[in-house]
Amino acid sequence: MFSSLLSLLLVVPLIAAIPVPLEAEFVENPAAHAGSKAKFDEALGVANTQIANMKNVLDNHPNDPRIAQAFGPNPNLGVIQGNVNKLATKTMKVQTSDPSFADNTHGGRVNGFVPVDTGSGERVTSPAQFGSTFYSGNSEADKKFRAGTIIHEATHYLGATGDHVAPGSKIVRAGAKQPDGTVRGGGRRSPDSQ
Ligand SMILES: [Zn+2]
Repeated sequence: MFSSLLSLLLVVPLIAAIPVPLEAEFVENPAAHAGSKAKFDEALGVANTQIANMKNVLDNHPNDPRIAQAFGPNPNLGVIQGNVNKLATKTMKVQTSDPSFADNTHGGRVNGFVPVDTGSGERVTSPAQFGSTFYSGNSEADKKFRAGTIIHEATHYLGATGDHVAPGSKIVRAGAKQPDGTVRGGGRRSPDSQ
């Protein structure tokens, strides 16, 4: 009896430590760009390490000052955990690893964005697009920048979160109207993209 409990205690933390990572499913239309795909996959690995760290802080250290630093003095932990859990387990669709597709959609060099359509009354996200700014450079800083961009765009794709904060510290949802006084920040913004 003791030995089986002991083995359970030994096994449980190991299971908990095995991440079910954020995955990316490439539509690859237009066709893949092999060099860019390799850069994306490398950055996705870095992103998953960062997501696991975020999840650990939120789940096990709710008073960590970095939470208030990132989300303000009264963070809605349940909502934040819900979004991070999505990041930790779900799949983001990506249009293509060919950076020229996103650049052409944007009309110039671009980092990344998720088109959001609110025409039906629901928020419908299309596959994420990553352009030549995202794929440029090979330094450690460039790799971290790519990982951060993947997390940012995956949050739009999976959580329909917005980039902008309205008066009263309300985050404006992706694709939603921006009231007067909205503070615009984060990534690219156009009428239908975040
Ligand atoms: Zn954004």
